[in-house]
Amino acid sequence: MTAKPKLKPVGTHPAPAPTVVGAQPVVTTAAPLRQPVAPRGDDLKGSLRILTCGSVDDGKSTLLGRLLWDASDLYDDQRTTIERSGKRAGDGVSPDFSLLVDGLVAEREQGITIDIAWRYFDTATRRIVVIDSPGHEQYTRNMASGASHADAAIMLVDARSGLKRQTRRHAAILQLVGLKRVVLAVNKMDLVDWSQDEFRAIESDFHDLAWACGFEAAVVVPVAAPSGDNVARRSDKMPWYKGPTLLEHLESLPSRTADARGPFRLAVQTVLRDGRDFRGLAGTISAGEIKVGDTIVDGLSGQRARVARIVTMDRDLKSASVGQAVTIQPDRDLDVARGVVLSSPGSEPVAASDISARLVWMSETPFDARSGYLVRTATDLVPVADMAITARLDLEALETRPADACAVNDIADARIRLGRAAALDLFKNEPETGSFLLVDAVSGATLAGGVVTKAGRDGGVVADDAFRLTRDVLARGICRDLGTSESDREEFQRRARETAILLRAAGVDVRLEI
Ligand code: GDP
Repeated sequence: MTAKPKLKPVGTHPAPAPTVVGAQPVVTTAAPLRQPVAPRGDDLKGSLRILTCGSVDDGKSTLLGRLLWDASDLYDDQRTTIERSGKRAGDGVSPDFSLLVDGLVAEREQGITIDIAWRYFDTATRRIVVIDSPGHEQYTRNMASGASHADAAIMLVDARSGLKRQTRRHAAILQLVGLKRVVLAVNKMDLVDWSQDEFRAIESDFHDLAWACGFEAAVVVPVAAPSGDNVARRSDKMPWYKGPTLLEHLESLPSRTADARGPFRLAVQTVLRDGRDFRGLAGTISAGEIKVGDTIVDGLSGQRARVARIVTMDRDLKSASVGQAVTIQPDRDLDVARGVVLSSPGSEPVAASDISARLVWMSETPFDARSGYLVRTATDLVPVADMAITARLDLEALETRPADACAVNDIADARIRLGRAAALDLFKNEPETGSFLLVDAVSGATLAGGVVTKAGRDGGVVADDAFRLTRDVLARGICRDLGTSESDREEFQRRARETAILLRAAGVDVRLEI
């Protein structure tokens, strides 16, 4: 029996929890869906959280493993283990770098619940936190929740097959959760003889996809994961490529800093009592900050109080901000329960009973208007009184088309009337309190993940987040001169897209509905 190698690697967040999977020790940690588990705090300033997404076998594990291998300091015995794991790839034999990340795959195969695994490694200049999302279609929901915590995404494709339907779905989800910095790694370049033509064709397809999704920094890097070409080391096989290596690009990306300036939000997870006079409202601050003496309000009931104490496991605080788990003791008894979202007066979430949402449908059971559904928000569970699908995203054209049905892996727009009001925000303003899960009322199964695009009470819209560029608007305006011939239809599409690009460049959130 060989001695168990020491664990160092890569590290995890929040607390390293060593797990041994098969023969390969890895460090993993599971993070529940939609909890603010991203690293925060001064020690991690400058860290970059990247989401990886690709289809199975495109080489995601190998690429990540190679990145860890080249860019971080592993223990010698880990290097030895990997070096001994010679594996055929392309023309030669190279170490199996995927072993560095395979523990996660093994856990998934054993059916252990692991929504997102976080791990980090330190390069020469910064800490990179990897949010690994699996490639199988049924894991779409994990990707959706991972994407909302990420600063940037690496999308991965196989150079032999280029962009797939799955790639487009992933892109649509990144767009859905507002992730705009995306790098495409075109892997397995060795299997297309390092061909510039093959690469350029994929690059061009990706640029089309990138503008359709409103990605800002869309860089495309040709790589070969096992040999490390253009991963951390510039490839001499592709002298025609002048851009950055994958690592150089990642190191150059800005981090999305936790913004404590937004409106204060704390979704109450538990109400704590000590049997006497202590009554604390416990939860994690998902946005903004709070100080002792500040007024807090429950937007649904309108009850107010001042913050008497901010209690944590270690000590009392004078103030606390986004990402911190705290217990707030109000200066007077508030009749609130789990599910309430505390906020500051004047910037409460909407007490919403009518919402429009974009859904990622994750269940094998399609939408059925006659079924009983529940909406699970950050902490609340609300019955759905009425629900209709209004549109579905066409993954080829990345445009929404009117629809009234949706099934597994569809991305669809829905209108939902709730049985009672729930405290909700628009996703684009407050991701934590602007997203929800749609749950089957009978089985409790999760059917879809959703982000709120409109929230209103009693039929009136209170908040809407996008400018709709519709066929009608275009036909009356910029496309007035166009008819119905094939070339005119193409020109219509072209103008629609150009207009959307210009509006987006001007900072307008545009939804193209043509
Ligand atoms: P994943 O399912 O996306 O994590 O894919 P893996 O990393 O497990 O890789 C799938 C297969 O492709 C493995 O046999 C890898 O050795 C191989 N592979 C990954 N990247 C490359 C590459 O750049 N070139 C070649 N020739 N093979 C690769």
